[in-house]
Amino acid sequence: MGEAIGRYRMIRDGDRVAVALSGGKDSLTLLEILLRLRDRAPVDFSVCAFTVEQGKFLRPIEPLGDYLRGRGIAWTYFQDKASLRLVEEQPGHGCDLCSRYRRRAVYEIARGLGANVIAFGHTADDFCEAFLRNSLFTGRVSALPPVTHSRDREFRLIRPLLFVPESLTQQFTESLGAPVVPCGCSQKTGTVRRALRDIFTSLEKDYPNLKETMLAAMGNLEPARLLDTRYLDLDAGRAEAAERSPFRVLPES
Ligand code: SF4
Repeated sequence: MGEAIGRYRMIRDGDRVAVALSGGKDSLTLLEILLRLRDRAPVDFSVCAFTVEQGKFLRPIEPLGDYLRGRGIAWTYFQDKASLRLVEEQPGHGCDLCSRYRRRAVYEIARGLGANVIAFGHTADDFCEAFLRNSLFTGRVSALPPVTHSRDREFRLIRPLLFVPESLTQQFTESLGAPVVPCGCSQKTGTVRRALRDIFTSLEKDYPNLKETMLAAMGNLEPARLLDTRYLDLDAGRAEAAERSPFRVLPES
């Protein structure tokens, strides 16, 4: 996480970082490591945490609250009424709508907490899956932004777990004894996500460093070996060739 925060200048002096806690192992790891970095990093920043209730948790959220209180962490639990209504009225709604509602709630909470940075728990696995999904299904070479901003630049949005695999967040939260509250959607099967995960699981049996290599590839583009004409110098060499040519085109008189 330190490597990601430093390389992409995610956190700066005076920042107040709000961690979006989904109830899962990844965001819990993010919070714990940010708290440890806060205590020893050369930059001065503060950390708080929040959870948006969208009516999808499979277990009671209270143990998470107890755990965070026990750790002395400022935590806001926000029941998003609009999302709860959505779940009731349109149980089959898709991710687009759900994440739009969540984004709106997240900004509202972060504003209330006086935060200027919002940290999300996307891991190395999420970056690699997004990269593969976009290449295979949307015709784009892209993954997730490590750092970006809300539309009006009110918030810096950061993903410090980008180099951290989920196998590690799993081990780490188990070692903490932290309660994980799963979301109903994480149990879904038959989705594109599940198919991509299966591809990785199968390949990683023989190539255990696959995700590390993919992450390195995302930071090491060779546009001249891709097909996007915006990044290809199609006129390269034409000027030099004209210089060397014995034939001259004379201006018209
Ligand atoms: S997976 Fe579930 S919680 Fe996540 S965006 Fe989609 S509908 Fe919402």
